[in-house]
Amino acid sequence: MALFGGTFDPVHYGHLRLAEESREAAVLERVLFMPARVSPFRTAERLSDAAHRLQMLRLAVGDNPSFEVSELEIQRGGVSYTIDTLRALRAAYPDAELFLILGADALQGFMAWREPHSIVRECRLLVGARPDYDLQATLAQLPDPIRQRVLPVPMTPLGVSASDIRQRVRLGRSIRYLTPPSVIEYIQQHRLYLEPERYDDGTEASNDSERGGGR
Ligand code: ATP
Repeated sequence: MALFGGTFDPVHYGHLRLAEESREAAVLERVLFMPARVSPFRTAERLSDAAHRLQMLRLAVGDNPSFEVSELEIQRGGVSYTIDTLRALRAAYPDAELFLILGADALQGFMAWREPHSIVRECRLLVGARPDYDLQATLAQLPDPIRQRVLPVPMTPLGVSASDIRQRVRLGRSIRYLTPPSVIEYIQQHRLYLEPERYDDGTEASNDSERGGGR
C-alpha cells in the first residue's frame, strides 16, 4: 500500500500519472491519496476548503479501483505530519508493506520533514521525476540511510502544477488537459481560484507561489 500526501489544491494529471506509474512500478494494490489539512511548510498560506480538495480528489480517482481518498489527515486536525500518518497506517495495517509516493521536488526538501529517518524506517519512498528538479543530484545529497530507501519511479516528467492551474483560472485561461474534466467542472461550478491568493494575514501571495508542499 502506498501513501500519497499533498495539498491537492487542485489534484491534476501530474499527481495522477505519478500515482499510476508508482502503482505499476511497485505492483501496488492500493494508493491512498491523503490531502493534508495544513501543510507544515504552508501554515501561513490559505488552502481551499478541505471539502473542496477532497471532492475534487474523489472525482479524479473515482474510476480507478486501486486509488482511494482518505480523510485521515483532514479529520485529525492541526498540521499534517507524514510520520503521524504512517504510524496510524502501520497500526491499522501491521503487516502491510508501506510506500510513500512523492515528487522529486518534495524529496529535495525531505530532510526538513519531521523525523525523516523514522519515515524511512516505516516505508520506502517512491519518487517520480519532475521537470526542473534533478533527482540524481538530490539523491547524491541525501544521507545513506535515506537514499537507500528511495525507489525512483520511471515516468515522463510532466510540468503540471496546482499553482499553475490556480493562476490560469484566475487569469481566465484554459486548464483543459491539465486535470480531468470532472475536476474542471467542479472548479467552475464552485467558482474556485478566482480571487488573488492570500496569506492568512490578508496580504496577497505572489503569483509564482513556491512549489514544494513538503510534509
Ligand atoms: P503547488 O503547485 O500548489 O505547489 P503541486 O502541484 O506541487 O502544488 P502538491 O499537492 O503540493 O501539488 O503535491 C503533492 C505531491 O505530488 C508532492 O510530492 C509533489 O512532489 C508531487 N507532484 C505534484 N505535481 C507533480 C508533477 N507534475 N510531477 C511529479 N510529481 C508531482
